[in-house]
Amino acid sequence: MIDSKLLVQKVAIIGAGPGGLAAAIALSNLGLDVQVYEKAQDFRPAGTGLGLVSNGLNCLEAIAPGIISTLTKSGCPVHQTVLKSMAGETIRTHSSTLLEKYGHPLLTVWWWRLQQTLASRLPSEIIHLNHRCIGFEQDESGVAIYFENGKTAYADLLIGADGVNSTVRESLFGEGKPNYLGSMCWRSVLEYRHELSNSYQLVFVKGNQQFMYILDVGEGYTSWISRKFIPDCQLSQSPEAAKTRILHELTGWDDSFRALVEATPAEQIWEGPICDRPPLTHWSKGRVTLLGDAAHPMAPAMGQGANSTFEDVCELQTCLSQGASLTEALANYEQSRIQRTSLIQARSAIGEMRYYDIDTTKQTSERFSEGDAAPQLNNDEFQDWLYNYKPPAIL
Ligand SMILES: Cc1cc2nc3c(=O)[nH]c(=O)nc-3n(C[C@H](O)[C@H](O)[C@H](O)COP(=O)(O)OP(=O)(O)OC[C@H]3O[C@@H](n4cnc5c(N)ncnc54)[C@H](O)[C@@H]3O)c2cc1C
Repeated sequence: MIDSKLLVQKVAIIGAGPGGLAAAIALSNLGLDVQVYEKAQDFRPAGTGLGLVSNGLNCLEAIAPGIISTLTKSGCPVHQTVLKSMAGETIRTHSSTLLEKYGHPLLTVWWWRLQQTLASRLPSEIIHLNHRCIGFEQDESGVAIYFENGKTAYADLLIGADGVNSTVRESLFGEGKPNYLGSMCWRSVLEYRHELSNSYQLVFVKGNQQFMYILDVGEGYTSWISRKFIPDCQLSQSPEAAKTRILHELTGWDDSFRALVEATPAEQIWEGPICDRPPLTHWSKGRVTLLGDAAHPMAPAMGQGANSTFEDVCELQTCLSQGASLTEALANYEQSRIQRTSLIQARSAIGEMRYYDIDTTKQTSERFSEGDAAPQLNNDEFQDWLYNYKPPAIL
């Protein structure tokens, strides 16, 4: 445990996703009394494949030493990416150079396994399931946090790690719904070996303004993710309707791709819109701050949602361990993060539309004014800047 000046004693974190749980580990390591409140009734298998890369992995290892080794055992280090046509033919194979260049391969893990791995590093009694945060009130002495189940918790610091539809962010800044990017997503994970993909491979299938990823996420599980450019977002009325719809969208695709979807139980298919939000100029007010998707939700095109969240956690941990006051610590935290995450958000939004051969660079640069530097870095420079991130040292 690190000896800190303890600017605060009690910390409440809303959300037991990757960000909330990683923050709970990092701040417990500072000697703080951390409690995590999660709306889900229980931890059930959820999500699909997440790609962890060097910037996120360096942070995770700093937060929870040894965790890369655990995740590597349950996930899959990707050696090759393979581009296929809808007919199943291989167009191109590319050997990954991430390990040589940045010290870690792309590690694909099931979202649920990542959540479980992080949760296993915490005492179970500090994670309070079935606690949906509905609001909070703060004054100079603390924050009262209100839950749908009628309970109230008190803390010196409240962290909203409650995702893209964050209640904490809405209470702080009141922006309303996130921004739909025109990209609809269907995804799932199942025990399955796809005949056109080998272990340690990531398969990308390009269709007509539509694509599919097939990821080995370890332990015999395969994750599939399909997205399609649909400017008008309409959700299906039932899980069965969502399954029928994605199968319809895959009409004309090789049977092996359709078979993967057909083998997935309808209730395990997640259908939803791909959204982001414009960058905020501040993430904190008083004793309340944000982290991860709550602070900077982004399109998944660059696979940086979780990775950039782990960077947030390391910076917040450092700022809380070094600040002279809570106000100063939270100001330093957001200053260290907003420009970088805005730039990643901007590149992610542009990348999402490039999948569909739509160039939105100009509109995106206007929407993400903090991401002004984005067009100035070429792809290699941007990749170096992104993947070479190292967490700050805790003094
Ligand atoms: C169930 C789930 C599955 C996901 N699967 C994938 C995936 O397969 N691939 C991918 O790229 N990204 C996925 N994501 C998004 C990805 O996890 C994030 O981009 C990234 O990891 C940042 O994590 P986060 O902790 O900030 O937010 P999230 O991962 O969104 O976690 C937020 C957590 O807060 C909880 N929560 C939300 N509102 C409240 C509230 N009012 N009170 C209490 N708790 C609340 C949520 O239940 C969730 O556990 C998923 C998110 C969720 C919630």
